[in-house]
Formats: sequence, C-alpha cells, structure tokens
Amino acid sequence: MLPPKLTLCLLGEAAFHLEQTTPSLSWQRHHNPDSITAPADIIVLGAASSEQCQNWLQTLRARTDIGQQPIFRLGNTPDDDPTVNALLDGHWDNLASRQEWLQRWQERQRQFVLEHPNSELQSVLHYLWTRPHGTLAPVADWRVSQLYRYPLLECITGSNDAAYLLLEQLTTRRLLRPGKLFDRVRSCPDCHSGHLSYVDQCPGCHSLDIGQQPAIHCFNCGHVASQQHFSRNGVLQCPNCHTRLRHIGTDYDRPMENHQCNSCQLMFIEPDIRARCLSCHRSHQPEALRTEQIHDYQLSDIGARLCREGDVAWNIGNLVLLGSLIPQEMFRFSLEWFDHLCVRYPAQSYSLIAIRLANVPDMVARNGFKESMLVLENLGQDLRAQLRNTDLCTQLAEDLLLLLLPNTPAAHVDVLRQKISNTHRSSSDRQQEQLKIHIASYSSSPQKHSAQHATQLIEMLANEVRS
Ligand SMILES: [Zn+2]
Ligand SMILES: [Zn+2]
Ligand SMILES: [Zn+2]
Repeated sequence: MLPPKLTLCLLGEAAFHLEQTTPSLSWQRHHNPDSITAPADIIVLGAASSEQCQNWLQTLRARTDIGQQPIFRLGNTPDDDPTVNALLDGHWDNLASRQEWLQRWQERQRQFVLEHPNSELQSVLHYLWTRPHGTLAPVADWRVSQLYRYPLLECITGSNDAAYLLLEQLTTRRLLRPGKLFDRVRSCPDCHSGHLSYVDQCPGCHSLDIGQQPAIHCFNCGHVASQQHFSRNGVLQCPNCHTRLRHIGTDYDRPMENHQCNSCQLMFIEPDIRARCLSCHRSHQPEALRTEQIHDYQLSDIGARLCREGDVAWNIGNLVLLGSLIPQEMFRFSLEWFDHLCVRYPAQSYSLIAIRLANVPDMVARNGFKESMLVLENLGQDLRAQLRNTDLCTQLAEDLLLLLLPNTPAAHVDVLRQKISNTHRSSSDRQQEQLKIHIASYSSSPQKHSAQHATQLIEMLANEVRS
C-alpha cells in the first residue's frame, strides 16, 4: 500500500477536472511549473500541446527539488515527441492504473542510499535507479552539433555540451552501460561537430569546380583529353598528333579518367572526397573523421550497486585515491612516454605498480559497511601519504588500481609495498574478514632499459595480482 497522503500536483487547467476523491492523495493545482513547490510526489501534466508539455518537462526535470519525481501526462494517447517521451514517466489515467508503478518507485526510492558529492551524477543515478527499465535515450536533433541529445542529461546539467561531459564521466566510471545502438555518426576530429558537408574535388588543385566529361585516349600518341578537344568538323581527330580516329578499340578508346577539373583541366578517375566541417570550417579526409556510436544507456551493475550500497565501498579507486585518478587512456599514454624517456635516459627509472583489493564485497558482507569503509579509508590515507603529486593513478577494474611512479627505482617500490602491508595489517587485525591486498610491480632497469609495450606490461601485472 502507498503510505498516506502523497501530494499530487495537477499542472495545467486540462488536468483540473481529474476526480479528486482519492483520500490517500492530497491535491494541488498549478498553472505553471514554477509555482509548484516541494513536496510534490506525483505531477500530472494537463498540457495543451506537445510543445507545452516539452517546455514544462524541461523546466521540471531541471529542478533539484522535484526534478526526480514521477511525472505523467494526462490521457492515454502516446506522444510522438521523442523529447517528451524521454522525460515523461508515462500517461495518467487514474491512480489505480499507476498504483503498481508508484509502489515500485517508492520501494526503489527507499533502497537508494547513495549520497554522492557530485549532485549531477547523483541525480542521474537516482533517476535511473527509481525507474523500472530506466533508460537514457538519445534524441536526434539537427540543431545540436553532436546531432543527438540526451534530454534528461541536458535538464540536469543545463546544456548539451555539459550533458555529454557528464555522460562521459558516467561511462568512464562504468556506472552506465550502453544498450541499444541507435546510430553511428561521423564527426569532425577537431571540434567534434557532426555537421559535415562532403564534397568532391580535384585531386590536383583541390578545386570544387569539377565535372564529368566523356574522354578519349589516342592510341597513336597516348594523348588523353575530353572528347570535345577531339571533335573537328564532326569527325574525331587527335589535337596532338592529328591522327583521324575512326575505330574505337583500334584507333582510340575511352579511358577511365572521365572527370575533369574546370580550374586546372586535369582529368582523373575518382575525385577526392573531403568532409568540410560546417562548424570550424576545417576539411578532413573521410578516414580521419571520428566515429561516434550513439547508444541508449542504462545503469550498469556497478552503478546499481552504488545506488543500493552507497558510494565508494565498491568504487575503491574513488575511496583509496580520492579525486586523483586519471582516465586509463591518459595513463597508458603517460606510461608509454615514461618508457620512451627511460630508453634514452635509463637513470630516470620508473615503476609501475598494480594493487588489487581482492575481497571488498566479502569484507563488506562479513564486517559490515561502516567497518569496511574504515579499513579502506585507512588504506587510502596510507597510500596518499606515500604518493607524490607527480605519481599517476588509474583504476583498471572495479578492484584494481595502477600506479605509475616516475623516478622510482625498484628499491623504493619495496619500501612502499612494505608500508602498505604493514599499516594495513595492524588496522584490520580485529576484523573477521581481513582485507586482502595483492601487489605486483615492474621497475625499469637504471642501467639499460629496453622499450616495453604499455598494454602488455599492464596486462602482465594485472594477471599477476589476479592469480
Ligand atoms: Zn584542378
Ligand atoms: Zn594522338
Ligand atoms: Zn570542426
């Protein structure tokens, strides 16, 4: 059963006629979204048009107080506006028909324990967690440079660019997983705009002014030119060697080059194709364009766990190295760079360390959430105390961290290893389930270093801590 007195807001006159007899609801009527004040548990829109509905939804979903609440549209005709569909929870006929949905929503609401410092991330996860089959669906829109929008993310962040940034954060941290593939769009490698114009141009002088011309190849002298240059008084004659060309296949043939540039007269087989960016005006070859996959997104298992069990217990990287993680790609790039440096200057040796926290879920299950957090926090403090701000960290998997320590020979790594296992052992002695930390490392040789393959090196260490 629903708890007593949910507040139901009717927005727009069209909704005011709803029979307001359900005793378990308290009713409010509003003419515009701004006059709705919290608490509003359920909002029913009586919008006169799809456009109004969309405006109202965008205003409501952007609000931090009530933006996450269930919002329905009155009536039972499905909307054909994709933005409306992306922001709406469905249609409202009466409470009975929505009872099940709302019960589930409240249940999920109760289970949600995450309190994330990033309010935008918190909002997205909360929204998806509380909706059955919650999905962030892309909406095609020619007005935006990426060609697709994610309406909910736009409402939460305030702009299309910020929405993509948030989406990237969520996917990099693997809190969302891509679902259905909607489209594959090419975009400008410089400014990421999808507004491209594909043009054929002359491969010689890059002029756009080209055309197709039937061409002739004289067998006698090898001259190739457009047919008009061979026509003389109604017969074909080579303008170069003046041979009469009577029989195709014997005197002449038609070459593959049947495009001609009107600027430099070059004849060619295939024009060059260039993608011109209409946003930054740079031109690129088609193979240099970025390819973006447009998916819808759902909560991943990691995201769902985070909602259910709170922040950081599972995202060890966040806890252990608060805020100082860099993306994996950047890490790999830096590793390659250090490796190159080291080949040249072996004395500047570097070390790579993999740290795996092997049993965090078991530890949480046996010692409880709070106790486990304490252990992880202590470990985080120790680690942070040992690291310098030139050291780089990334999270390779949910339970696996990588550290890259420039100017650090193997001997220093042993000291670090010792410290981590010592302090950690003393702090978790009382625990039923002790935190298991597996460490593996690689250090370049200060005498002579031969180039390493970054990805293979990382895989080797990851394998070692997993076995
Ligand atoms: Zn040309
Ligand atoms: Zn000729
Ligand atoms: Zn561009």
